[in-house]
Amino acid sequence: MNDVKLAVLGSDGVGKSALIVRFLTRRFIGEYASSTECIYRKRLSVDGRQLNLELYDPCPQPCDGKTSLNEQMHWADGFVVVYDISDRSSFLTATAIVHLIRELHLGVTKRDVDSVVFLVGNKQDLCHMREVSREEGQRLAAENSCQFYELSAAEHYQEVALMFSKVVRNASLNGKSK
Ligand code: GDP
Ligand code: MG
Repeated sequence: MNDVKLAVLGSDGVGKSALIVRFLTRRFIGEYASSTECIYRKRLSVDGRQLNLELYDPCPQPCDGKTSLNEQMHWADGFVVVYDISDRSSFLTATAIVHLIRELHLGVTKRDVDSVVFLVGNKQDLCHMREVSREEGQRLAAENSCQFYELSAAEHYQEVALMFSKVVRNASLNGKSK
């Protein structure tokens, strides 16, 4: 059986835990523990193949520099980099993370980064408070060969599930733990 390891990265409060819990349980519960980092595990079937999925939810420090990201780079087969469309500073953090993944990836492994790094603008339901345009997100993704999604963990179960399914599928085809 294949193992697939995903790291969900981004500033505190962007909705990393909300997205993961939504994907795994279909529910949006509103408040999520943030004091401990954790790895969620789930067995799922993709294209008729059984996979063991591990989802790394790094709390409270998403990315405290190159060292920790470097470790996650070695561990993970795929990345979901999340920002909050109503919080510009979270977009700057996501930009830095995407650049680091790019840089570390090129230096560390030969895997195809294009299909295993997903950039996600979360909290689309807060578009009346939007600070980051959809075009900016698309541009960052295009410049770094990432897949781009804008969605809402609160309101869009289907999109959240689709996004995770795609990154899991790509990572399982591409990953080193094949
Ligand atoms: P994390 O620190 O990245 O894990 O963020 P959390 O998942 O703990 O979410 C932080 C806060 O944002 C919580 O109060 C969530 O209820 C809220 N939140 C998460 N996703 C959404 C969303 O799509 N829309 C809205 N309006 N709030 C969200
Ligand atoms: Mg969290």
